[in-house]
Amino acid sequence: MPRSLKKVRLLSSREIQKRVGELARSISRDYQGRELVLVGVLNGAFIFLADLVKRMTIPVQVDFVRLSSYGSGSESRGRITVSKPAELPLAGKSVLIVEDIIDTGLTLDFLSRSLQEQHPESIRICALVDKSERRKLPVSLDYTGFVVPSGFIVGYGLDFDEQFRQLPAIYRLEETLDPGAIRADSMPPM
Ligand code: 5GP
Repeated sequence: MPRSLKKVRLLSSREIQKRVGELARSISRDYQGRELVLVGVLNGAFIFLADLVKRMTIPVQVDFVRLSSYGSGSESRGRITVSKPAELPLAGKSVLIVEDIIDTGLTLDFLSRSLQEQHPESIRICALVDKSERRKLPVSLDYTGFVVPSGFIVGYGLDFDEQFRQLPAIYRLEETLDPGAIRADSMPPM
């Protein structure tokens, strides 16, 4: 039987904006007087990074990377490549990776190691959502927006099949028997 999904609101726009403001204040305080480059991970982190940088009170440079993953079945994120590298010089700079969500930790582990090759002064990590339940590699987050134990979430940059990125709040997709709900045959395991 085809799977159907409904959206259940998890975090309101107001909650997200409040937390993003707090993160921006902490980052601005911690990086005072340093050469900071925010490296956003496309596409999911674009809204989070934009809101974060608008609230920061120190000079900052912004760059983006895009990663692709290949494989099959539930191991689909097993092989990761960089499809758009960072373009700013990172040697000697303080790099802050800005991610939408950390799930298994494979993407972040790969990205940290890949950016390390450019010899930045430091690499730290800021993630909007830490989804800890399916972690495969240990990840130490320096700035975390929200901890969500499990489930598949959308909105505020996060998509399902390229839908829902534009929503200002964050929703969990849940299975439902309502035949009018979102069809979800291609959804990854939650
Ligand atoms: P990881 O390598 O940590 O397993 O995966 C991180 C990436 O998987 C995220 O950047 C995001 O693209 C995707 N991802 C993991 N969990 C979710 C989720 O709940 N919702 C959405 N939309 N993407 C997710």
